[in-house]
Amino acid sequence: MNLHEYQGKEILSRYGVKVQRGIVASTPDEAVEAAKKLTEETGTGWHVVKAQVHAGGRGKGGGVKLAKSLDEVREKASEIIGMRLITPQTGAAGKIVHQVMIAEDVYYPGESETSEFYVSVLMNRARGRDMIMYSTEGGMDIESVAEHTPEKIFTEEIDPMVGLQGFQARKIAFNLGLSGAAFKDFVKFISSLYKAFEGVDASLFEINPVLKTSDNQILAVDAKVTIDNNSLFRHPDIAEMRDIREEDPTEVEAGEAGLNFVKLDGNVGCMVNGAGLAMATMDIIKLSGGNPANFLDVGGTADAERVEKAFRIILRDENVEAILVNIFGGIVRCDRVAQGILDAYQNMGDAIKVPIIVRLQGTNAEIAKKMIDDSGLKVLSAITLEEAANRVKEVVS
Ligand code: GDP
Ligand code: MN
Repeated sequence: MNLHEYQGKEILSRYGVKVQRGIVASTPDEAVEAAKKLTEETGTGWHVVKAQVHAGGRGKGGGVKLAKSLDEVREKASEIIGMRLITPQTGAAGKIVHQVMIAEDVYYPGESETSEFYVSVLMNRARGRDMIMYSTEGGMDIESVAEHTPEKIFTEEIDPMVGLQGFQARKIAFNLGLSGAAFKDFVKFISSLYKAFEGVDASLFEINPVLKTSDNQILAVDAKVTIDNNSLFRHPDIAEMRDIREEDPTEVEAGEAGLNFVKLDGNVGCMVNGAGLAMATMDIIKLSGGNPANFLDVGGTADAERVEKAFRIILRDENVEAILVNIFGGIVRCDRVAQGILDAYQNMGDAIKVPIIVRLQGTNAEIAKKMIDDSGLKVLSAITLEEAANRVKEVVS
């Protein structure tokens, strides 16, 4: 689950990570009140108005603006709230901004220069360990740093038995070119940051930029936080932070129906039981010359109601040219599943305009195949994976 910047920063603060402070607002009036309150608390005269959407690159898209007075706070907040923000991460459709964060301006002039760094914490799956990725090239798009100057990206792997060690924190601070008070502050920053990452069962923290202020403090100016969904049961406070306005509406609807659905951009829809079989089915579609339009795991009960819901969700995608249903009947018998598919098909009438290929394997597979073949409906049946693949090939080529 992804969080908004203001939520991510709230979590970081709980663990003692210093952040650029801010208050969230949904209207220009609230934005002005937030700015006044921040001035009282932090003494800041200037503020930044930051769009809260689940996408990076907001600055370049016009979603982060500096305001040098309360009038400007009102003006920039009015511009940003309600706007359709388009960034390289939102796609062409962009995202509607419902809230802004009014934050203290932390780029004030002082005794030394400010510098921006990149820091992220994530799981290195190949190594089975967390790692900290960091770079002196903060504030810009890390993908292009990785492409053009990969030598400027460093990683530090964490041993799960002992956690992040002091010498590692100091090594990172050193590699970022810090010294004196900023060095010390960074060591504290990165240690607390890693504790936060572990504490909330995050799968990603991306802090870009981490700022060294002109008075040598280290602050998180941005926070992209992703929490492992499987851990949400033990973080009810974080689970409540979910903002479904930011999620794909079809995926939300599928979730509510108990379907595990991820939209992709291919032309063959798939409906499968079990995540492993779903992955294998996507591979088969690729090998047959098609491209999966989605990942869909219907779970244990492939009854008519669920199958119908799944068909409707898959068919909402205009790119779908065929649907491959691949169900293994273990506990649930294939004839039951076949009946579910036929019932769903009949209920939907003309809504199904693309060929459907059904491959049922397991208990009563032969009976199920006969039911489908005898139904008179435009459903092609298969028993082996190879047959299914050939059918897909015929309909998409
Ligand atoms: P992103 O564009 O979605 O990654 O949003 P960020 O939170 O990283 O902000 C984008 C950029 O806005 C940063 O890289 C900074 O250059 C700028 N910015 C953020 N906070 C401040 C601030 O307090 N003062 C000034 N002057 N610029 C800021
Ligand atoms: Mn950023």
